[in-house]
Amino acid sequence: MPPDSPPVPLPEAVQAVDPIVALAYLVAGVFFILALRGLSSPATSRRGNRFGMAGMLIAVVTTLVTHDLANIVEIAIAIGLGGLIGFVIARRIAMTSMPELVAGFHSLVGLAAVLVGWAAYLNPGAFGLLVPDVITTLDERVVDYTTAISPVSKIEMGLGIAIGAITFSGSVIAFLKLSGKMSGSPILLPARHIINLGTLAAIIVLTALFALATGPAETLPYIIALTVLAFAIGFLLIIPIGGADMPVVVSMLNSYSGWAAAAMGFTLGNTAMIITGALVGSSGAILSYIMCRAMNRSFISVIAGGFGADASAGGGEAKEQRPYKQGSAADAAFMLEQAEKVIIIPGYGMAVAQAQHALREMADLLEEKGVEVKYAIHPVAGRMPGHMNVLLAEASVEYDKVFELEDINSEFAQADVAFIIGANDVVNPAAKTDKSSPIYGMPVFDVDKAKQVFFIKRSMGGVGYAGVDNGVFYMDQTMMLLSDAKKMVEEIVKALD
Ligand code: NDP
Repeated sequence: MPPDSPPVPLPEAVQAVDPIVALAYLVAGVFFILALRGLSSPATSRRGNRFGMAGMLIAVVTTLVTHDLANIVEIAIAIGLGGLIGFVIARRIAMTSMPELVAGFHSLVGLAAVLVGWAAYLNPGAFGLLVPDVITTLDERVVDYTTAISPVSKIEMGLGIAIGAITFSGSVIAFLKLSGKMSGSPILLPARHIINLGTLAAIIVLTALFALATGPAETLPYIIALTVLAFAIGFLLIIPIGGADMPVVVSMLNSYSGWAAAAMGFTLGNTAMIITGALVGSSGAILSYIMCRAMNRSFISVIAGGFGADASAGGGEAKEQRPYKQGSAADAAFMLEQAEKVIIIPGYGMAVAQAQHALREMADLLEEKGVEVKYAIHPVAGRMPGHMNVLLAEASVEYDKVFELEDINSEFAQADVAFIIGANDVVNPAAKTDKSSPIYGMPVFDVDKAKQVFFIKRSMGGVGYAGVDNGVFYMDQTMMLLSDAKKMVEEIVKALD
């Protein structure tokens, strides 16, 4: 190429990113980081949410004003319609159904990544993905943009589509399992590990072949095959995972949806998408790791699936009918008044009954009578990470009275009353002693060390999420308070008054 050849203008899409746009995306990224920081504590979570909204607004507006949009009206209608549907669903959804909603929304992120990947493949010019082929003639450079999509772009595209498709079908199965539309029990195919590993290997090989091939006729079969296989593997990966591991699956799919978005960010050269995707991907992965640790499970064994094969998650009957003691609200109130230290363990049933406000009233009354009251929260109590923290915060329980499992477990030995309200699996001693139990290995509260245990649930027949009987019901120091949690606590409050 002669050194004095005239500069060739590049099309808008392949020009260097405008510094203002880069700065706006960077500011959005900083807002997202502040959002995650804020969301790490209930006290700052509202502020975190606001940072997140502001960051998203900056990213969306920057993208809209700096791109040559085909039809702004169509985009505005799509945003308006999507926003309205999201608003209505979020307002209607019960707190206890939040995990299935999150799984449902993740499926949309996955599908969006697949569609963007396909759109970029079918119309690479619009996405700035064509490699400019510079042909130097005697007096000028001729730029031919129709050559091909670069292999690197195709790898990003293939990965984005594959991760997106896995996220989509995996999230749909998680949604069906969590909402009870499909059995929570693991569905174990024979030779599933070989099928899964073979399918994953095939996807990697197809992505490589897709990247190396040139021309539509050559690349099309590869991209179709890798999309179909990725949809299939998402399905195959999640069906063998039992109900007890679903919390980890939801957060893992959250992580996948982030990586799918990040891969698409590379394809589109969009910094905001790369930053946001990486933040979602890594925070989801960290949460999955924390949850695995909380359940004493290795991440690999969760992914390999099949855990909880004997459990009928979310249903089933307690198998044994051993003798147990039942008490009334008046009995409970009398003994609570005499106590010096009470530790409350809330669980899923408190969320179902919406008993958090009555519970707080009860705790206030006890504190007025000089009783020390603390709340103990298990990392997987309820049906989503942080479920109990949100409910207690809603009832204005002070954060300094709320303790994590590892910080409070040693205190049960000094507690007069362990007050279990709608929790079950998280206090089940089978997790420590019974190797055949689906929850074996999950750290649980040592409620058996407390002098007395009050256990609120509606009936002896109902079981927890893992579908197993609980030895705590039958302990000498346990008094079963069989009733709806809110009703029982309101009666205790009345008796205390
Ligand atoms: P569990 O699901 O083990 O137990 C819930 C208890 O609440 C049952 O004993 C049930 O008994 C009782 N209950 C239900 N409704 C009411 C009501 N209205 N009033 C009083 N009691 C009621 O809850 P935990 O919180 O102890 O454990 C959480 C489980 O959920 C774990 O196995 C965890 O792995 C799983 N999980 C957690 C997720 C998360 O992210 N946190 C997500 C998905 C699953 P009865 O029917 O007799 O009333």
